[in-house]
Formats: sequence, C-alpha cells, structure tokens
Amino acid sequence: QYILAIETSCDETAVAIIKNGNEVVSNVVASQIESHKRFGGVVPEVASRHHVEQMTHVLEEAFVKSNLEMESIDAIAVTQGPGLVGALLVGVSTAKALAFAHQKPLIGVHHIAGHIYANQLQEPFTFPLLALVVSGGHTELILMRDHYDFEVIGETRDDAAGEAYDKVARTLNLPYPGGPEIDRLAQEGVDRFDFPRAWLEEGSFDFSFSGLKSSVINTVHNAKQKGETVEIADIATSFQSSVTDVLVEKTYRAAEYYGVKEIIVAGGVAANSGLRSALLDRFDSSAIQVKIPPLWLCTDNAAMIGAAGMVAYEKGYRAGWDLNANPGLDIEMYSKN
Ligand code: ATP
Ligand code: MG
Ligand code: FE
Repeated sequence: QYILAIETSCDETAVAIIKNGNEVVSNVVASQIESHKRFGGVVPEVASRHHVEQMTHVLEEAFVKSNLEMESIDAIAVTQGPGLVGALLVGVSTAKALAFAHQKPLIGVHHIAGHIYANQLQEPFTFPLLALVVSGGHTELILMRDHYDFEVIGETRDDAAGEAYDKVARTLNLPYPGGPEIDRLAQEGVDRFDFPRAWLEEGSFDFSFSGLKSSVINTVHNAKQKGETVEIADIATSFQSSVTDVLVEKTYRAAEYYGVKEIIVAGGVAANSGLRSALLDRFDSSAIQVKIPPLWLCTDNAAMIGAAGMVAYEKGYRAGWDLNANPGLDIEMYSKN
C-alpha cells in the first residue's frame, strides 16, 4: 500500500511516498532556510509564497524518484496542523485537490504525531512508550499506551527547546537556524558557566527554558559591557549541558513513573548530539530502550507524515472535503473522540 504524504507546516516544502507504512520510496524536501536566514527566522508570508512556488516541483520529483503514478497511490496524507496557517493551507489545498481529482481517501495528520511516527520508519513501536518531543515549537513528554493514543504528561511553560537554541544562537550572532551551530560549538567549549536548570515543582514533568535563555543573554550582555571577550564555544557548551540535563532527567523520571518500555525521541532537537549521547548514557543500565531517529528524520520531512498517515489510514481515519488547516491542532484530540 502506498501513501502520498505532504508537509508544509513551516519552512520545508516536503512530499514523500511511503510503502506499507515503513518503507520510504521517495522523500523530497525543499528547504527555505536560505530565504529566511537574512531575517534571522521564518517569515510566515515568505514561507507561504515559497510553498506555492515549490509544491508542484517537489510533488513531481517525488513521483519521478518513485517510478510510480498517481493511480498506484492508496491514500493522501497531509499535515493539517499545528504550524503557520498560510503555510499549512498550501499543503492542505494541494492534498485536497489531488484527492478530489483522483478520488483517493484523504487523511489529516498532526505534525507532532508525524515527528513521533518518524521512528516507525526504523522499527515498530512497543507500548507503553514515552515520546520526548523536542522541536522548534514544542517541548513535550507524550505517553502513548497504543497507536494514536497521545497523553501529554509534560510540556514547556514558555519557550520550546528549539526556540531557546535559535534565540541563544541569535544572541551569539550565529546564523539561523541556530540549533546545529550551537551543537557544533558545544563540542569545542568548556562547561564553565553555571546556567540555571528549571526543575519546577517536585514531580512536575513540565519544562521551562526562558530563565536559561535570559541568563545566557545577560551573561553575554554583561561581558560585552565590561569589554570582555565572550568565548562563545563555552557559552554554547554550558547552555547545551543545561538543556540536556533537564530534558534527560525529566524523561528518565517520567519513564520510571509510568513504567514505559521505550523512549522515542522526536523533533528537530533530537538531532542534537549532546542530547543523543546524554539520553543513551542515562538509560544505559536501564531495561528501557531509547530510540532516536537518524538525522534526516528529525527535522521536518514528509516521510514522517506518511508513516503517521498510514497508521491513521489503517485505523479508518478519513478527512472530508472540508478539511482545513488548523494552526492550533491538539494532539490529544485523537483519544478524546
Ligand atoms: P514544530 O515541529 O514544533 O512545529 P518545527 O517544525 O519548526 O517546529 P523542527 O523542524 O522539528 O521544528 O525542528 C527545527 C528546530 O530544531 C530548530 O529550532 C533547530 O534549531 C533545531 N535543531 C536542528 N538541529 C539541531 C541540533 N543539532 N541541535 C539542537 N537543535 C537543533
Ligand atoms: Mg523547519
Ligand atoms: Fe517540526
């Protein structure tokens, strides 16, 4: 069975074709990073225009690479939300037009469910599992007792992890997106700044990164005012160790508390080398398995939407012709109805 998947929630125009839920037949991602770099972040209006320009080319390339025709496709899956509404609309409209013209089933996919299901392209899930979602807009611990059963047991109260990375990078005058830049520098510096770690109330699985972000900004600002040079590699190392300490420890405690069998890491920050090694270390002597997707599956792509879409397809989820982009889509909706 073949799923055609479309993803346009942010600044990647992506189309993939997935066979039987776990085989990537083709996966095309057109990134707009270069266009957004000069603004230091994603400009929503610019993103929407790029999606419109790129969509037909990306679609065509995905089909050419797969050697398949539209007739072989069993269903069309598209990211419905969350994300930038104008960007999402390009994908949703494309999917609806194709599904209507070719009379194929249409499936709306939650972007974060996609990030989580990216892991199923590697290996099937074992429930119950705990997903650590760390992306540009989300930092969440999600408990899954079964497919499409998402319970958010912890979430950020302010900035997302990726957002904190990008903002700190901007303070250090590093190019957008800042995550990979800081990750690279963090491997060269010395962990000598004692940045805060927000543990919050006893037993809470929530996160907070705004205090850490402010502390980094103040440190850089104060050093500049005193005319001291700031060793940005040391800042990056100390910042990264603060972020990973909290992410790893909260994940560990939640995993023990809920007695899960495996940890699934998802989202762009799952590409972070410090986080990857710290998680594997922490769970080294534990019976709980840690699964982290390869780098190309961490950041936005459509293969992950196809993987999540296939499970939805098998569950019988179908969207109507009134499918709409929903920038605030709630991942717990699946288990609520
Ligand atoms: P969301 O998925 O929440 O809607 P998004 O789709 O914009 O947000 P992703 O594509 O999942 O986010 O991830 C992008 C984020 O990942 C950016 O904030 C980027 O800086 C961060 N990132 C990418 N690689 C790394 C890395 N190696 N270390 C840390 N952060 C990284
Ligand atoms: Mg992106
Ligand atoms: Fe994403």
